[in-house]
Amino acid sequence: MSRRNRRIRPEAAPATPVEASVPVPEPSVSADQLKALTDRLAVLERQQQTDAGPWSPVTARRREQDAWLASNTRTDGPDACPVCGRLGDEQRRLVGTMFRFSPAWVCLACVDVMVPGYGTACFTTRTMGETLDRLACLAAGMDRPTRSFRALAARYGLTFSLAKDSDVGDGTAWSHLGDLTLWREVGVKALRRDDAGFGVFPVVSASVLRPEVEFKFVYDASLGRRSHTPVAKPMDPPSATQAAARLAAEETAIEAALVDQERQAAERAEEAARRAERARIEAEYQAAVRAQEALFEQHRQELRKARAKVLESADTRADFNAIVQGL
Ligand SMILES: [Zn+2]
Repeated sequence: MSRRNRRIRPEAAPATPVEASVPVPEPSVSADQLKALTDRLAVLERQQQTDAGPWSPVTARRREQDAWLASNTRTDGPDACPVCGRLGDEQRRLVGTMFRFSPAWVCLACVDVMVPGYGTACFTTRTMGETLDRLACLAAGMDRPTRSFRALAARYGLTFSLAKDSDVGDGTAWSHLGDLTLWREVGVKALRRDDAGFGVFPVVSASVLRPEVEFKFVYDASLGRRSHTPVAKPMDPPSATQAAARLAAEETAIEAALVDQERQAAERAEEAARRAERARIEAEYQAAVRAQEALFEQHRQELRKARAKVLESADTRADFNAIVQGL
């Protein structure tokens, strides 16, 4: 091949690994885990600051952050948290469209839900709907948030609101919501629902939602007379009894699904244990076979040696006899 040809030949492209598009699961970090992570981050940043020395950019940034956090934190402020209504306690300044008088002073528990990682370089903000849902989960004392919790609470007759939009409340967190025991009960139900893989509303097919049609004898202007015409029947919203019965039926289905899940998990564990036991027995059997084979081999060698020795001694005796006979 000529030099020119070699030059114009396209070079083999380096093999680039084609990344398979793996669906990234939505991170589900509980409030406690998030708190632990932010605390750990703060410790690491401080450690880095100590290692880097007092005049490094890392130290300067940290100092700046600490100053910002201090200027945006107050203790025992005169106003209650506008979100949960808790009076006193440590509060942090928050700017947001949610508040009538922005910025507002919000308690630490609410800030952790609304702006996780507040005061660190990796803070997060959420949409209004998600924030309100998570706040409702906080009010219900749930250890992890579930999707659209406010909608589920509404099905049980509970309406979520912020303390600033309510006149009642005694200065404790979420007292304006009324009976918090009910909220906690619905919170437990939401978690069980989530565990069982149920959504907030039951899955209903479109045909069920389509209004029923009935034929009525109505006046038709185009014909100039009355004729039979299909008319959609108005759909009645479910009565309180029907709604309660539906919720009860869903709860029964959820409990059954959870029992089923537990049974399946137990079956899987049993099968795994059985497989492990089978593997252990097989390994022991193979080890015994190998040991037996080694023993046989050892005996075979010993036998070979003994036979050689016998033959050797026989040869010696034959020589001796020959010598003796020769004499
Ligand atoms: Zn609060």
